[in-house]
Amino acid sequence: MSLNLKLLTRFIRTLVPLAGGLALAGCATSPTGENTLLLNSPTQMNALGQKSFEQVKANTAIETNPGINRYVRCVSEALLDRLPARYGIQPQQWEILVFRNEAVNAFAVPGGKIGVYTGMLDMVENQDQLASVIGHEISHVLAQHSNARLSQQQLTSAGLSAANLLLTNRVEAGTQQALMSAMGLGAQYGVILPYSRAHEREADVLGQELMADAGFDPREAASLWRKMASEGGSTPPEFLSTHPAPTNRVTLLNERVQKLLPIYLEARDAGRAPRCEAQR
Ligand SMILES: [Zn+2]
Repeated sequence: MSLNLKLLTRFIRTLVPLAGGLALAGCATSPTGENTLLLNSPTQMNALGQKSFEQVKANTAIETNPGINRYVRCVSEALLDRLPARYGIQPQQWEILVFRNEAVNAFAVPGGKIGVYTGMLDMVENQDQLASVIGHEISHVLAQHSNARLSQQQLTSAGLSAANLLLTNRVEAGTQQALMSAMGLGAQYGVILPYSRAHEREADVLGQELMADAGFDPREAASLWRKMASEGGSTPPEFLSTHPAPTNRVTLLNERVQKLLPIYLEARDAGRAPRCEAQR
């Protein structure tokens, strides 16, 4: 079975039970088989993701340099082109923005939004490392991790319904913080909610598969995480505060390379050989 078919099968397994049980929302199975509690519908999550993205846009300078934007779009679009069609989001429906900020950070949120900080572009050494970051972020979205994170918060706080969170003007500051932290965007609000080990592992696995299938060298995923962990000394990259490194992350990514190299080579043979150039 090709990688794409495998991914597709996984997503169908995830999405079909979801589509049937949306009104009741509840337990679902994540793409790598974890049980997960999802209290919000994809439609609600898309609206919440878009709302949180607008918040970031309102508070962070947008990088307009065409070369830099071309680089990030080139990598992102190569990955998005390989998403299973049944996921229902066309590549061109994603909004991809570069933010002018030194923090080593990048994110993706439901509703088809990707943000990459210029600090992350300074950190990565090549297109493949950037693809591993963006692939990891897209995978958090596909596996509905922000829905799971928000649902956990909603279990313990009555004011956090999706309907309440979507009200723009009447939302209290604390509620706003809960939304942003569930989306992985809490740093600006002083609320950092790290992804769990299970979510990190799932985003690592799916993201590395996606990058190989898009024609990016999957060996660079381990290189990037190793570099990120060694940078910064006492002030590690902001990215690591929301994406904590499981101790075996580099080992896992290295082990999976054996399985992914044939997929990568097949992608290159099929003409999926991105040549995205970093420009300043
Ligand atoms: Zn992560």
